[in-house]
Amino acid sequence: MKIITAEYIYIDGEYLKEYAVAFEEKIIAVGRYQDIIEQYPEAQLMKQLPHSVLYPGFTNTHVHLEFSTNRTTLKYGDFITWLYSVIEDRNHLSSICTTEIMLEACREMLESGITTFGAISSMGLDLDACVETPQRVVYFNELIGHNPQKLDTLYSEFLHRYESSTHYAGHNVIPAVAIHSPYSVHPSIRKKAVTFAKENDLLISAHFLESEAERQWLDHSKGDFKSFFENFFDQSRALTTIDEYLAEFDGHPTHFTHCVQAGEKELKKIAEENHTIAHCPRSNRYLGCGRLAIEKLDKLDIPFTVATDGLSSNNSLNLFDELRAALMMHGDLEISKLSRQLINAVTRDAAKILKLNAGTIREGYKADFALIQLPEDPKQEDEIALWTILHTDKVSQLYIKGEQLI
Ligand SMILES: [Zn+2]
Repeated sequence: MKIITAEYIYIDGEYLKEYAVAFEEKIIAVGRYQDIIEQYPEAQLMKQLPHSVLYPGFTNTHVHLEFSTNRTTLKYGDFITWLYSVIEDRNHLSSICTTEIMLEACREMLESGITTFGAISSMGLDLDACVETPQRVVYFNELIGHNPQKLDTLYSEFLHRYESSTHYAGHNVIPAVAIHSPYSVHPSIRKKAVTFAKENDLLISAHFLESEAERQWLDHSKGDFKSFFENFFDQSRALTTIDEYLAEFDGHPTHFTHCVQAGEKELKKIAEENHTIAHCPRSNRYLGCGRLAIEKLDKLDIPFTVATDGLSSNNSLNLFDELRAALMMHGDLEISKLSRQLINAVTRDAAKILKLNAGTIREGYKADFALIQLPEDPKQEDEIALWTILHTDKVSQLYIKGEQLI
């Protein structure tokens, strides 16, 4: 058994001083420092680092590893322009994306305190990296495609990838299902995959209302998507409506990504069905999709996470970069309160959404920790969340299931 302590420990939304945590693979006890060392005199006591804050390990619920080779290839600025560039360069980018490159991407996440991530896997090329990386991975096997002639093949190929991921369920890989989006998945196979996930009690992740173009297409079969679908797929009408898409997930809380263009009606439905949202501020900014009004999510009690998305629409997978971007993007929100909310979003809320016994420093929870060091002692304790986000690039220590990896 080990005992870890820090100047402050983040417990139930508060920064507590002179506390300690006794742990093995799981957290054995949390309490006052003196009580814990007296209670477990034989445990190995870790040295306290100066100006340190101990957090539960962070969770990044939405990342695409298969495009980790993109740096200066894909076009940013506008969603449809980006999508055309993805179609053009997708094969090249994924063909040079080796397991080593994807493991480097996982390492970048690890160094920013991410102990669990949700990998959206379009092709299954990232499975080896997800098995090898020390992090816990919710592996979202993604269904994509709408060519009526190929539906059986698309679905059986999806099932095959899902089956392959189940072989590693003991290796910190948690098999799950992703539906790419309302516009890119044929309703008939979407129904099959969602039913499959419901029957097997699997987590589902789904992109939803990312861009204005998507909204226009689904609402009116118009806008920038029209020429895209006519050019590539000889299709002039959307195959589903927003309401039909959302209704598919009824009764099964689903983790929707983006939702930037969701209106009052959709957000209400999301709240009623206990769905949740992955908010990717930099990806939304880089692809010209706009700002997700997180203050509206608050009002409706919709839990959300802050996630990096992939390097196909981002410049790093560092969670602190993402949190800083969120602070800038939501410039009208009070910064201290927002910082506390963002820290909750990547710890307790994200772990709960992925149904993990993690993200909280409490007895019985997984001993996943991210320990950061501030440049000096914080003068105001209620601003530790803000100082953490502003002053951290890499964590000083990191533990997953009690094992120290940094
Ligand atoms: Zn995505």
